[in-house]
Amino acid sequence: MTAATYLWTPPPVYSLPVRGRSERLPIHRLFFVGRNYHAHAVEMGRPVDKSAEVPFYFTKAPSTLVESGATVAYPPGTADYQHEMELVLAIGAPGFRVSEADAPGLIYGYACGLDMTRRDLQLAAREKGRPWDLGKDVEQSSVVSEIVPMPQAVLSQGALSMAVNGTVRQQSDLSKLIWNIPELIADLSRYYHLQPGDLVFTGTPEGVGPVQAGDRIEGRIEGVGTIALDIGPAE
Ligand code: MN
Repeated sequence: MTAATYLWTPPPVYSLPVRGRSERLPIHRLFFVGRNYHAHAVEMGRPVDKSAEVPFYFTKAPSTLVESGATVAYPPGTADYQHEMELVLAIGAPGFRVSEADAPGLIYGYACGLDMTRRDLQLAAREKGRPWDLGKDVEQSSVVSEIVPMPQAVLSQGALSMAVNGTVRQQSDLSKLIWNIPELIADLSRYYHLQPGDLVFTGTPEGVGPVQAGDRIEGRIEGVGTIALDIGPAE
């Protein structure tokens, strides 16, 4: 068999560091849960009635991944670039139509994440019933800390907070997730064959807001770790 050759260098394998390991975690897909904290759903003008609704998701390309500690340019096309601090779940085993009882078997670990968002473009798309891609699938907008291995561990509580230039903006607790970790895994696996290297950003609490060039974001999740991001000038 002849090895394939390519017109140009293929894209890299996107990956993240893993605490305590020299091997990196190769990324497959990036999933994001829409409204998963009541207070954030209310601040976005779309309260959630869990008894009558199911979770919803959007995706970003793995090429949007950025490691904690990076400096990223203020992105083009927006005047309202916003932070969303989130718990990130790393899938470590395949699963399709998984029950909530079996869902923990898919868990590799967790990380801190920032789902950076062009809010003006997201809301304009939402109002027109258009896709969110320009608002969400932003280059360098999926910021993730090192992955912390916690095989089969269900995180159900832990303080989550983030600050901009030292001023606290978002503060909540993982116990306030509307759909918890097993519920999210079971639900998402109804639509996708989940694979090792899939990351699930589990949603942001209230307090989302804009950043400016020169701002420094710092966040932490109790029992997981910390994350940081510097916003540079626009290109
Ligand atoms: Mn988000």
